[in-house]
Amino acid sequence: MRVFKFGGASIKDADSIKNVANIVRQYQNEQLIIVISASGKTTNAMELVLTSFWDNQKSMVTEHLQKVKDNHMMIMDNLFQNREHSVYNDIHDTFVDLEWLLEDGPQDSFDYLYDQIVSVGELLSTKIVSAYFNLVGLTTTWLDVRDCILTDNTYRDANINWPATNKAIVEKVTPLLDRGLVITQGFLGGTSENHTTTLGREGSDFTAAIFSYCINAEDMSIWKDVPGVLTADPRLFENPSLIDRLSYAEAIEMTYYGAQVIHPKTIRPLQNKNIPLCVKSFINPEGTGTIIGEFDAVEYKPMIVVKKNQALLKIVSKDFFFVDEAKFSKLFAAISKHRIKVNMTQNTALAFSVCVNDSPDKINRLIDDLASDYNVDKIGDLKLITIRHGSNEVFERIYGERKIYLEEKIRSNIQLVMDKDEHL
Ligand code: ASP
Repeated sequence: MRVFKFGGASIKDADSIKNVANIVRQYQNEQLIIVISASGKTTNAMELVLTSFWDNQKSMVTEHLQKVKDNHMMIMDNLFQNREHSVYNDIHDTFVDLEWLLEDGPQDSFDYLYDQIVSVGELLSTKIVSAYFNLVGLTTTWLDVRDCILTDNTYRDANINWPATNKAIVEKVTPLLDRGLVITQGFLGGTSENHTTTLGREGSDFTAAIFSYCINAEDMSIWKDVPGVLTADPRLFENPSLIDRLSYAEAIEMTYYGAQVIHPKTIRPLQNKNIPLCVKSFINPEGTGTIIGEFDAVEYKPMIVVKKNQALLKIVSKDFFFVDEAKFSKLFAAISKHRIKVNMTQNTALAFSVCVNDSPDKINRLIDDLASDYNVDKIGDLKLITIRHGSNEVFERIYGERKIYLEEKIRSNIQLVMDKDEHL
């Protein structure tokens, strides 16, 4: 049994979907689960539907939704010979369900509504791709992932109920695999009360890893628009090179610090069962790609990871008391209560500096909570650069004349916080 994951870019239009069908055809005799994201930028478009709905801007809701409908209609018209195909009804019904929800004003929490509305992107894409696969002779079953990936009700960042998920996947998916391919939605889950949840942006990689873990897959492949994992983001750096082999630990470090090629939660379930993860190109499927697995003693080239949208908080004690272990534990409890993501820390006797993902609302609430004991200085519009396995030459080059707000060097790993517009 194998698991494939195709992201939004790989199914952004009809030609891309045809390309995915050609790739999958090579594996049609294998037991294969295919996890799919929303098409192209649909998740962003659905977020606009949600925010307009939340702000009670009815005409904007209609306008944003119409764009999503037009886009999916265009894809279908280019895939299916005529509008008699049952997929048109299926997609129509999916939009009708959504429109019912949008009819009344926003009556639930923002996060709950987010999951009910934004999840539609994956329902649409999987219905279209699965219908197309069947049309071109790839026998495929569409599976509703919300019956398999069972979560709590932390909307937008749901936690997996692993025992229940494991049981559901084994019971529901195994018989389907004997009939042909199985297509399901990434990013989504379901609660015990049948509400839809989501696993966090870009969560489809994690979905594929959950399936791989539960069915004891032979391997998992993520098909991307890059040749594999590269030493740097090709949108930010010229000519990065392909990494052939990467250990699980190295992959976790890179993704944790912002390498966007794989969702950071993906690695652990695979590592736990020693399932190799292949990152391959859907543009050049014959390419070797990158294999992530249980490798040690790999010689790595220098890698650069950039994490954008960072803020630096300098938290200084008001009364000259030490920021000691007891104070640390209270500070971290406050940070965790507001679900702020910490990426780097440093401390002196009187101050604690922390580089965090810049979520202004959460940070303001934290600053209010700390106000009685601490002065908090915030600097926004920063980025965090992580260089792994860097030579002195690479370090020197990055340091240059730049203003560095916070830095740390542990052996060949260096982290620097600098202005977002600083070019490297
Ligand atoms: N469609 C979701 C997103 O864009 C999940 C995913 O693609 O992984 O974040």
